[in-house]
Amino acid sequence: MPLLEVKDLKVYFSTPEGDVKAVDGVTFSLGEGESLGLAGESGCGKTTAALSIMRLLPKNGRIVGGSIDYQGYDLAKLTPAQLRHVRWKHISIIFQGAMNALNPVRRVGAQIAEPIKLHEDLDDEAAMKRVHELLELVGIPRERATEYPHEFSGGMRQRVMIAMALACNPKIVIADEPVTALDVMIQAQILELLERLKRELGLSMILISHDLSVMAETCDQMAIMYAGKMVETGNVRDIFKNSKHPYTKELIAAFPDIKGARVLPAYIPGDIPSLIHPPTGCHFHPRCKFAWKLCEEEEPGLLPVGDGHCAACHLNTAERPA
Ligand code: SF4
Repeated sequence: MPLLEVKDLKVYFSTPEGDVKAVDGVTFSLGEGESLGLAGESGCGKTTAALSIMRLLPKNGRIVGGSIDYQGYDLAKLTPAQLRHVRWKHISIIFQGAMNALNPVRRVGAQIAEPIKLHEDLDDEAAMKRVHELLELVGIPRERATEYPHEFSGGMRQRVMIAMALACNPKIVIADEPVTALDVMIQAQILELLERLKRELGLSMILISHDLSVMAETCDQMAIMYAGKMVETGNVRDIFKNSKHPYTKELIAAFPDIKGARVLPAYIPGDIPSLIHPPTGCHFHPRCKFAWKLCEEEEPGLLPVGDGHCAACHLNTAERPA
């Protein structure tokens, strides 16, 4: 049984021009102790899908269909009071950009202690003891609990965010672009830290990134999104070695190979389409070099193409005219 199962999720944002179909029928699951990478270009719906799990959508966003099953509950239908029991204690999130996510005028120790006091019913002293343990767990000396966010480097602030996400021993941690904007050395340290914590604490993790090399290092499973749709899912190794979707192949080719010849990485021509009036058929067809008539007319389903490997592309099921 998966720990978390998202089925046919649809999340729309109201705008004066019409509904933006940011997530449009997305399905994926997360097993116990597993890490799932959600990848795709900016604006493909991966952060919206993850924020929907915690029901942290902006005011103009709404879940219009599908379900988010967690331990027998549909998170999409919980009341705000019920959701408060799930957030932090069952599912927590490491937000993108630690400087924006932390309160600049509060000491980091007080910020980490806040969810602990709220959910664990501990007094100040016991909560601060837990804060010290958490800081040491993520490699920050406990004395630094009295410092403010601006006194930390970018990497250290991200460690504070990770400590905060672990404050109430959640089962699932969602990490939204946890290493974006950090330099390569610090990125490696943060990814190593996440990997260690996942192993030692038995966490399940959803990692959101546009950087496939981050997924390759830290995830077991991968799900590729394009224009609000899931286009390929499967084991990380299968997807890298034997991708069955042209978009995934182009994403992989867009990253430099540090061991190969010194050539400029490929790029994907064109832009993400409007999600108010998305293209007919396969959403990727205006940018796909293999597209033919069927791609414009019919949306491909996400179908099995191997053991635990699924892809949504007509090339896998129909004969392409020469
Ligand atoms: Fe390209 Fe057609 Fe496959 Fe879409 S369905 S990815 S347009 S070949």
